[in-house]
Order: sequence, then structure tokens, then C-alpha cells
Amino acid sequence: MSIARFWRETPQRYNLGGCRCTRCGTVYFPPRAVCPTCAQHRESLGRLEPILLSGAGEVVSFTVVHDPAEGFEMQVPYVLAIVRTVEGPQLTGQVVDVTPEQVRIGLKVRATFRKLREEGRAGVIHYGYKFAPDEDLPAPRARGAPTEIAEVRAPPGTARA
Ligand SMILES: [Zn+2]
Repeated sequence: MSIARFWRETPQRYNLGGCRCTRCGTVYFPPRAVCPTCAQHRESLGRLEPILLSGAGEVVSFTVVHDPAEGFEMQVPYVLAIVRTVEGPQLTGQVVDVTPEQVRIGLKVRATFRKLREEGRAGVIHYGYKFAPDEDLPAPRARGAPTEIAEVRAPPGTARA
């Protein structure tokens, strides 16, 4: 499925719906009623048009979370980043499909919709945007003894029947 079709078919509440000031061109996410840059100009009123952010951007800051918020325990360590979208607004979100070692300032990413967290056993599942790399990444550096290839084992309790 193409990116455009993916975004078009995603329900509105999952889209990165922002707005753009038609006077100065500034893009806001989430959308707002008045452009603060143009607020002193009468002609800016009613000049904000809705747009969808492409979801493309790059990491401008990030942190590796080892002490998770409630509901995110299964995901540690995970990377939380500030992403500057190509349209301008900066979004905070989790970076997925990478190891923390692979994330760097300037990494090109793209928003993707994923399960954010689950409340309780039969709980509500929250979905929202996360960011996945939008460029080829070098292989993560191996940890531990460099000459030995670690045997891949499932952690205790996760063996498949
Ligand atoms: Zn403006």
C-alpha cells in the first residue's frame, strides 16, 4: 500500500492533522485557531487551512528510556525522540524498529501507526504514531566478546509451544 493511500485510509483521529497559516506559511500541529506569528495582523484571521503532515522528519533530540511510564513496561529500553517534521512542527514520539544504539541526531524517520500501550489484561489498546527509520541503518555494534557470536535464546518464559 502506498504511503499516500495509507494516510488517506487512516481514520481522521489517527492522522497527523495540522494546519497551515496561509499568510506566513507556518505549520502547526496540533492545529490551532489563530497563527500567533500573524495574530497582530487582522488579515490572518480565518487564514488557517487544515493540512496533513507527511509524517517524515528527522530526530533532533532523543533519550533512551529505561524506567518506563505505566503501560510501557514491556518495551524498555525504548527511545523517545523529538522529531522535526519536514513541514516544521516538532513532535515527540517513540522510535521503533531500531536499537537504542542506532538512533542519532539527524536520523531520518517517518511516522507509523502502532499500538502505543494496553491498559490491563483485557484493557483498552491505544494506537498512535511512532517513528520508524526512513533510511538504511548500519548494523548495531555487537556487545560483549567481539569474537564470539552470541547464541540467540528466548528469555525464560517466552518459549513457544
Ligand atoms: Zn501566520
